Amino acid sequence: MKYLFAPNTMSESGEVYVLKSLLEKEEVACVIRNEHLFIAVGELSPQECLPALWIFNDADYPKALELIEAWRSSQAETLSQWVCPDCGETIEGQFSSCWQCGKQRYET
Ligand SMILES: [Zn+2]
Repeated sequence: MKYLFAPNTMSESGEVYVLKSLLEKEEVACVIRNEHLFIAVGELSPQECLPALWIFNDADYPKALELIEAWRSSQAETLSQWVCPDCGETIEGQFSSCWQCGKQRYET
């Protein structure tokens, strides 16, 4: 068993399930751990309750990482452009902050 991936926030936890099916399609045996701990939220910090993706066979690790990287870059490409609310610059979707003034995309 080897730890592979966990989302940073609860709202990204859906990614774990997407990646699991992606890996299984490539015949990388994997499992999601922690998912049942959702019940225990309140006693544990939310971070500890996030689902995490583990692979069974350590030898699959490089392949699994590659798949995740490929998936992430394909996700980034599909992100749409956004307009900075501060300076009005149009920013490519893969950037999370404005190159002109440094404003974070999701700051309000
Ligand atoms: Zn800006």
